[in-house]
Amino acid sequence: MTVHTARRSRRPATKLWRVPVRRVEQVTPRLTRVTVGGDELADFVSAGTDQNVMLYFYPDDVELPEPLTFGSARAMWAQVRPLTRTYTIRRHDPEAHEVDFDFVLHDAPGPASAWAKRARPGDRLIFVGPSPAYQPDPTADWHLLAGDETALPAIAAILDVLPEGAVSRVFVEVEDADEELPLPVEATWVHRAAGGSLAGAVAAADLPEGRVDAWLAGERSSMVALRTHLLDQRGYPRGGVRPTTYWRRGETGS
Ligand SMILES: Cc1cc2nc3c(=O)[nH]c(=O)nc-3n(C[C@H](O)[C@H](O)[C@H](O)COP(=O)(O)OP(=O)(O)OC[C@H]3O[C@@H](n4cnc5c(N)ncnc54)[C@H](O)[C@@H]3O)c2cc1C
Repeated sequence: MTVHTARRSRRPATKLWRVPVRRVEQVTPRLTRVTVGGDELADFVSAGTDQNVMLYFYPDDVELPEPLTFGSARAMWAQVRPLTRTYTIRRHDPEAHEVDFDFVLHDAPGPASAWAKRARPGDRLIFVGPSPAYQPDPTADWHLLAGDETALPAIAAILDVLPEGAVSRVFVEVEDADEELPLPVEATWVHRAAGGSLAGAVAAADLPEGRVDAWLAGERSSMVALRTHLLDQRGYPRGGVRPTTYWRRGETGS
């Protein structure tokens, strides 16, 4: 399952950003918000909704070229190639020149969650992007947004742009009630610790009639189960159901 490109904003020129951390906030027990900001972000242009960037993680002892650009980083790939992980821009403030990332602190160690766990003001985060962003279908009768906590930043950003009065149903799978976050519309929160699953919750729901525009993101097997349910049991057309795998259990991301 790949990231869908239909109805996405245009891809901006690829640019590398190296930006200091301004703030770190423990939003829930398993979610850390890292705000990066400074003049380095003065010409960052937001693509909106589920826009994401590729974070670059270099070994601590590596000497990086100055200036560090996408070109100079690529030129040294033969010697040192960063580990990369994809993250959503939760919020971009063009006046304050700030961007927020929400990192899920999952139990299995990985470079991105480990970096977020120890991030402190002054640390520098390197990233490339942003990607094009999903454009909700303005002709759909209703919008289905479903994902786990890694998709929460995107779900919140998509809800911000849905027109007033748009009918939406939102399902979010998190570990337990401590991981729930305020959203601008009512959501169905599914608790993994209590045995809940995204596909199970959607299957049990009374959903609106009419043509759906479904944006779905999360762990791969959860996406497969959800897509199968929506296409096979609900009979929704393929074109209206767009799942994206954000991570795979037991496999490292990129
Ligand atoms: C377009 C896109 C946008 C994304 N946006 C966000 C975002 O805003 N916030 C966010 O937190 N994540 C987001 N993700 C998911 C994130 O990229 C992955 O979870 C990534 O694998 C985390 O990297 P890591 O270095 O911490 O762990 P990795 O080194 O990739 O993986 C190490 C181990 O941890 C497991 N693992 C990875 N992620 C999780 C998880 N969430 N829960 C439990 N186990 C896990 C893996 O299966 C593996 O066994 C996004 C992914 C995509 C494709």
